[in-house]
Amino acid sequence: MLIVQKFGGSSVADALRVGNVARRIGAAHEKGNKIVVVLSAQGDTTDDLLHKARELNSRASSRELDMLLSTGEQQSIALMAIALHGLGYPAVSLTGPQAGIHSSSSHGNARIKSIDTERITSELERNNIVIVAGFQGINRYGDVTTLGRGGSDTSAVALAAALHADLCEIYTDVEGVYTADPRIVPSAKKLDEISYDEMLELASLGAKVLATRSVEMAKKYQVNLIVRSSMSIAEGTLVKEEVNVENTYISGLAMDKNVASISVIGVMNKPGTAFKLFQTLSKEKISVDIILQSIGRDKTKDISFTVTKQDLPNAVRVLMANKTALGFDSLSFDDKIVKLSVVGAGMATNPGVASMLFEALYNGGINIMMISTSEIKISVLIDERDADNAANCVHTRFFSSAAAFSVAQQ
Ligand code: ADP
Ligand code: ASP
Ligand code: MG
Repeated sequence: MLIVQKFGGSSVADALRVGNVARRIGAAHEKGNKIVVVLSAQGDTTDDLLHKARELNSRASSRELDMLLSTGEQQSIALMAIALHGLGYPAVSLTGPQAGIHSSSSHGNARIKSIDTERITSELERNNIVIVAGFQGINRYGDVTTLGRGGSDTSAVALAAALHADLCEIYTDVEGVYTADPRIVPSAKKLDEISYDEMLELASLGAKVLATRSVEMAKKYQVNLIVRSSMSIAEGTLVKEEVNVENTYISGLAMDKNVASISVIGVMNKPGTAFKLFQTLSKEKISVDIILQSIGRDKTKDISFTVTKQDLPNAVRVLMANKTALGFDSLSFDDKIVKLSVVGAGMATNPGVASMLFEALYNGGINIMMISTSEIKISVLIDERDADNAANCVHTRFFSSAAAFSVAQQ
């Protein structure tokens, strides 16, 4: 079998863990498999490097940041190759560019465009374990790029697709995909399997166990994907096209802390107002998520919406710069909020889900600031101080066995 194995930052955080992971990789190789390993930077290396750059210049160029951040993964792959050699296994490390990973040019958030697999294939033919640096590629100018936070997952899935691997294993610090982040909700349950679509929704709503783009790519190329622990031999969670739907209406909940809201107060209640407002933001490449418009009064109305925390300063700046043209009275913002979402394919046909969510939040004494729904999810914005309590209240309401029974009755 050809297997791609990806190990995240905590799985390779120190010498002891690198050694353990090396033994695990070696054992898979000994069984006669061809192994491609994708690694993240060790522990908090990426954050530490970002911090070092900020100490020198808060507006570091994105090209130089990529040059810096890509060194984290480069250290990991060399150390892993060194560890494998020490154990007597043949191994070679390759940076993203050496592995033929070509990306778009947008530094800091580049997309993988194509993979030239020749080098990897020839190394595999020489019986080498091939260790590739995750999270990086090379753009058409020959510069190293990074793929956005959590991007090593995407590197692994893309390599699995390009190499037609039999399996792509994502090794992390939890035993699989759970019904909620097990670090926040201790009663969260591990799922044996989850569909690409539901995983995609959970990932995009903040469950960082898999990067969103990695799931998109797994679905597109039907990659056999499994999430499991690097620290135990537990089975893990299979991510696939179709899953056996039991009597559950929601598959899980996710929390996104990277959210800020902006309220534009007193805009004219006439056609074109929303258009001008959001056009101003889109020209600055600021994406907007949940939008709420108040009922008009005295010829004016308020429009509130959410952006990412990184985009908040720029969004406020550009709106204030266009205050007269947009014709609003005042603007307020809040970055101490989180977005909590429940996700499930069975939701569309079950009107009880929204009321159960609101009931759980009400019982927990938690105020809702904004609500957004789609066929497969309901999201609410809440105060960040309520985040963990809300996640636990909502999880209990949907996943304790008595609660599941009461949904089934509706
Ligand atoms: P890695 O360094 O291996 O890439 P990440 O920190 O990116 O690991 O992702 C694993 C983390 O994702 C877990 O430690 C857990 O706290 C978090 N997480 C959030 N939602 C979920 C979920 N639904 N299931 C499992 N883990 C989750
Ligand atoms: N090291 C990168 C990050 O911390 C990529 C990854 O771990 O997937 O985001
Ligand atoms: Mg990750």
